[in-house]
Amino acid sequence: MQGNATPTVVPDRTPQRVRHALRLRVLEVRNVEPLTPHMLRVTLGDDDLEGFTSPGFDDHVKLFFPNPETGELALPQLDAQGVANPAPGDSPRRMRDYTPRRYDEASNTLVIDFAMHDAGPATQWAREAKPGDRIGVGGPRGSFVIPMNFDGYVLIGDDTALPAISRRLAELPAGAPAFVFAEIDSPAGRLRFASDADVVVEWIFREGTPAGESTALLDALQVATLPAGDVHAWIAAEAGVAKAVRRHLVETRGLNPKWVKAAAYWRRGDPAVHENLDD
Ligand SMILES: Cc1cc2nc3c(=O)[nH]c(=O)nc-3n(C[C@H](O)[C@H](O)[C@H](O)COP(=O)(O)OP(=O)(O)OC[C@H]3O[C@@H](n4cnc5c(N)ncnc54)[C@H](O)[C@@H]3O)c2cc1C
Repeated sequence: MQGNATPTVVPDRTPQRVRHALRLRVLEVRNVEPLTPHMLRVTLGDDDLEGFTSPGFDDHVKLFFPNPETGELALPQLDAQGVANPAPGDSPRRMRDYTPRRYDEASNTLVIDFAMHDAGPATQWAREAKPGDRIGVGGPRGSFVIPMNFDGYVLIGDDTALPAISRRLAELPAGAPAFVFAEIDSPAGRLRFASDADVVVEWIFREGTPAGESTALLDALQVATLPAGDVHAWIAAEAGVAKAVRRHLVETRGLNPKWVKAAAYWRRGDPAVHENLDD
């Protein structure tokens, strides 16, 4: 005999993949301002930004930098599938992935936050950027929209993850439990996050150990309390660090691997690395 118990409704927590037609734009630097001693905010603008869309907090655009010797800005060519290939004779080594930190439709401006490090064309360009400079921006090509109906959120990363973490915190619903573990060099690099969520931030300091060589993030997580219930965890950091953190969350903490999204945002010693670590 069947009882009258109310059936349990399992919330749909399937992430939505959204595809966008690839657009390449040439934008102009409007403003450059330091957010911290290690993070530079560059505001880009142009009428060409109209129609820009970025529904996922960890979306990325491809930035195309001018040739530092000639100043020439060569945009890639789109093939029949809409894939961007380097312009003939241009170097694929001058494309880098960055998070669209904020798009403002009213002013047609796009904000990109650059974590400063020793070397690389992106960092070099940002360091020297001034109003009027031009840069190529491609995408976002696709978005991965993670539902907002989890019991809690864990956001983990280094300096390069801070723009996406800031976006996620700004978008989470009021009162949602969110735990942030952010690895930076020193207290001077801390950012203020705007959020209606119930946010707990743990800043973790490398204290002079080079980024990508520190175990501070993993050490902190090993003794950290995570939110209860069905939790979504998001990780972006140096490849080795991101892998170790993901392994800890899945294998030691028992988080559902389907709800742990991890990415290598860079790899120590290699230029321009982007790797999803979800499998
Ligand atoms: C999806 C995605 C979104 C990203 N969003 C942002 C963002 O919003 N802001 C941001 O600052 N970065 C972001 N990154 C990371 C950024 O793309 C890389 O740090 C990139 O390698 C920087 O390019 P570069 O030209 O300065 O250095 P590269 O020429 O790529 O690298 C030169 C050297 O510097 C090392 N290196 C690269 N990054 C760092 C670092 N952060 N610290 C120390 N050493 C480093 C490399 O290992 C290499 O040895 C994102 C990456 C991805 C994949």
